[in-house]
Amino acid sequence: MVELAGVNKYFGDHHVLTDIDLSVAPGEVVVVIGPSGSGKSTLCRTINRLETIDSGTLTIEGSPLPDEGKELARLRADVGMVFQSFNLFAHRTVLDNVALGPRKVRGLGRKQAEERARELLERVGVADQAHKLPAQLSGGQQQRVAIARSLAMQPKLMLFDEPTSALDPEMINEVLDVMSDLAADGMTMIVVTHEMGFARRVADRVVFMADGRIVEEKAPADFFDAPETDRAKDFLSKVL
Ligand code: ADP
Ligand code: MG
Repeated sequence: MVELAGVNKYFGDHHVLTDIDLSVAPGEVVVVIGPSGSGKSTLCRTINRLETIDSGTLTIEGSPLPDEGKELARLRADVGMVFQSFNLFAHRTVLDNVALGPRKVRGLGRKQAEERARELLERVGVADQAHKLPAQLSGGQQQRVAIARSLAMQPKLMLFDEPTSALDPEMINEVLDVMSDLAADGMTMIVVTHEMGFARRVADRVVFMADGRIVEEKAPADFFDAPETDRAKDFLSKVL
């Protein structure tokens, strides 16, 4: 579904991604962990073409992502992204937030878009909030709306960049539960998170990054119970 080969990325003379090789199969859930500044967000943004790469190749379903134009917009719509900050449209209702993308980008009629939006709000457990404005919802509810909004575009791949980091502790699980359900339904997912319990339970593979490199990549039980590198051991000793 996604393949990065020999990807390098610089910000000025700062080498932020070094020789990244990563492939993600359809239906696979890859959890990316690592210290702050290790390049996790840049990796996500690169996959979604919010950042360019300086060398290497990035393909989605075997096609390289074009740099601009309509084709890019279409391919980007195939990749959903959920950030730490929910980024909902503040002056639109929850229902509109979810229905607008499909109307504007996928060309759906209002009725059909709203019908689908209601189903998705149901799926993430906030159907009863459809008529409200985002600010009237809790953080956990808003993030679930953000997930529904991404899903409304019928993405082939979902990227999550620390989706629960801005939430109060009691709201973290309601968002992780929605993500677990999505994974169980077969969605291909790349998830950056510090939630180690989620990584252990839901990931097919854990990718550990440090200093812009993939340092370890293995099944979660192997990674958590027997990390090989000092970087990973040190990181785990701080977060577990
Ligand atoms: P992480 O998500 O793992 O915390 P990031 O991908 O956000 O790491 O950042 C990796 C490195 O790239 C950091 O040193 C960060 O300061 C730097 N960086 C991120 N975005 C930019 C940018 N737009 N311009 C310059 N440097 C950046
Ligand atoms: Mg980050």
